Amino acid sequence: MPELTIKNLHVSIEDNPILRGLDLKVHQGEVHAIMGPNGTGKSTLANTIMGHPNYEVTEGDILIDGESVLEMAADERSRAGIFLAFQYPVSIPGVTVANFLRTALNSRRRHADPPQEDISVLDFRKLLKSKMDMLEMEYSFGGRYLNEGFSGGEKKRTEVLQLAVLEPAFAILDETDSGLDIDAIRIVSEGVNTLKGPNMGVMVITHYQRILNYIQPDFVHVMYDGRIVESGGHDLALLLENEGYDWVREKYGQPLEA
Ligand code: ADP
Ligand code: MG
Repeated sequence: MPELTIKNLHVSIEDNPILRGLDLKVHQGEVHAIMGPNGTGKSTLANTIMGHPNYEVTEGDILIDGESVLEMAADERSRAGIFLAFQYPVSIPGVTVANFLRTALNSRRRHADPPQEDISVLDFRKLLKSKMDMLEMEYSFGGRYLNEGFSGGEKKRTEVLQLAVLEPAFAILDETDSGLDIDAIRIVSEGVNTLKGPNMGVMVITHYQRILNYIQPDFVHVMYDGRIVESGGHDLALLLENEGYDWVREKYGQPLEA
């Protein structure tokens, strides 16, 4: 089964080491929750997997099915099946949600191996309708300009819709901590629960223990000071829910200076 493997990953931002030897394996079909206190490197991990140029991998590797993606640009990684939901999605006046999604899907299809033809307008309409029904979205939403005047919740729903249409092999949802209300968490969680299936591996990154009330991850990982220090299942989720992160700080000490 296809897998995303992160091996002894060390990452620096402007020569400051942030990730310090992180190991993780995600198979398609699995949902992993990656949790941890603020500033611990969660977003660094997400952005590095996607190939953001500011993040320098100084040691270790990121592989899909045994093949390193480190030399690939972000768009190549996207075609290789990695999807990172935008944290702060930009609005694009004049481009509707439906057109944006159709363009993204066709770009994916053209670069598939072997290449596929563009989806017809009619087939796309059917596809979009079925995905929107599944996510309980109003179909008229597809006619709105992308993120233009969207509420936080509508932006989140659009992210999840993008995930549903593109069906990536590995989806990373980085829910940074500021400005995230419980409603947005619920929307993303419900979406992940609905879309979860044998052909998608999901990493839900969050600081918020409460997400575990909404999502049923197969694995829970605690990140601290640039590494994954604890991994478990429901037991670990309950511990985090009841006790937060204080015990992590006590057990692993103060973070190292960057
Ligand atoms: P998290 O998502 O877990 O809150 P981040 O990955 O955003 O953590 O940040 C990890 C560390 O990297 C923090 O100490 C933060 O200050 C630092 N950091 C993040 N982005 C930058 C940047 N662009 N330049 C310098 N340091 C950064
Ligand atoms: Mg973050």
